[in-house]
Amino acid sequence: MNVIPRDKHCISRKNISDSALKVMSRLRSQGHQAYLVGGAVRDLLLGSNPKDFDIATDATPEEVHGLFRNSRIIGRRFRIVHVRFGREIIEVTTFRGHHEGGNEASPATGGSHSRQSDKGLLLRDNVYGTLEEDAVRRDLTVNALYYDAGKFEVFDHVNGLTDLEKRQICIIGEPAVRYREDPVRMLRTVRFAAKLNFDIEQNTAKAIPACAALLREIPSARLFDEFLKLFLSGYAAATLEQLLEHDLLQFLFDETSHLLHQDAMSLALVRAAMANTDKRIADDKPVTPAFILAALLWPVVVRTAAQQENRGDPPMVAMHNASQQTISEASQQLSIPRRFSQPMREIWEFQLRLQRRQGKKAAELVEHRRFRAAYDFLLLREQAGEDTGDLGEWWTEYQTLDMDQRLAKSAEHNGKSGSRRRPRKRRNNQQT
Ligand code: ATP
Ligand code: MG
Repeated sequence: MNVIPRDKHCISRKNISDSALKVMSRLRSQGHQAYLVGGAVRDLLLGSNPKDFDIATDATPEEVHGLFRNSRIIGRRFRIVHVRFGREIIEVTTFRGHHEGGNEASPATGGSHSRQSDKGLLLRDNVYGTLEEDAVRRDLTVNALYYDAGKFEVFDHVNGLTDLEKRQICIIGEPAVRYREDPVRMLRTVRFAAKLNFDIEQNTAKAIPACAALLREIPSARLFDEFLKLFLSGYAAATLEQLLEHDLLQFLFDETSHLLHQDAMSLALVRAAMANTDKRIADDKPVTPAFILAALLWPVVVRTAAQQENRGDPPMVAMHNASQQTISEASQQLSIPRRFSQPMREIWEFQLRLQRRQGKKAAELVEHRRFRAAYDFLLLREQAGEDTGDLGEWWTEYQTLDMDQRLAKSAEHNGKSGSRRRPRKRRNNQQT
């Protein structure tokens, strides 16, 4: 175990949340060990602001719960304790020990505290252990550093500091075994490579193709949680490139992944959506999963709607059915909550409605609560090089007008092209 004294690292208590310091000091005062661990230590060592503060301790979940009135035990696969301070939640995890099995030769079931499937997947992992054991159970070396806020020391049992210096993502232990235990670790590998702008260590990357299909075993609800972290943490653009490079996007969005390989404009649209999302997050503007999901599934909706139109459905009916079908198929991989699928559908259907620009219709559309998202989505399509017949510009200008001017503008449009006609398709002039 490598112990780094206070004058040999840059972590200062000033940058640690008071609530986390309180929890650790309480645990220590009761004779327990307590360390800051995971992303917080990693980010502090990199000089950035951690987004949350996780704590590891030798106290059992029941003991931790007993010490904090404002706490509750959550989880089944991994039992952890949440200690709440207003809006802040400090996650306290008990050191995890070795479970039985863990390699191909003996995919054992373990005792009642730990369980593995015949493919090596960890179904339950509640065996408690020491700091050293806990360190090697974590996913990546840079995520397995511990900070003792009492002695101001950093503990490194897996060469995490070296990897931080080398700026590389390295999985702890035998990559294939660790991915088989929990295939989501492959997504975490690429997520942290994107977030930190690190390289992926050779063996950590090399094991991905052979293990990737195991992601099909992950429940769709867990994949949705992971999707949120991948695309709504401010590094969506870099994450998308990583997912494409390691051919992992198919395990989140199967159809999209195929279409992105075939069609440059779809790829441009999804890339533009990611870049916009990252920028909004950087600018402290709100982002919704619905918008980013609408973009990721748009190529699928467009293709499905075209197929339906070819079979004779009118455009709006085709779009409606295609939306339904796309969401229901995508949800088998990624369980998309209704509060997001509804706005997604509206954003898509709005893409047709925005073509109707008669006086009253246009005035109504602008007032619709989904107008803003749908309009942004239209601009995104144009940004990706799609020719919408300058529809975006039309709506941009329309919004700056007063009511009389709006009616005049709609009338002018009616005169020019007739209200029901769709914009003429010109050859694409790629602008991105
Ligand atoms: P951030 O919160 O910045 O996204 P983090 O490293 O804190 O990053 P969390 O998902 O909050 O990530 O997890 C906390 C810690 O728990 C990780 O740093 C890692 O040590 C451990 N961990 C999380 N998920 C896994 C996993 N699937 N397998 C092994 N260890 C994991
Ligand atoms: Mg965290």
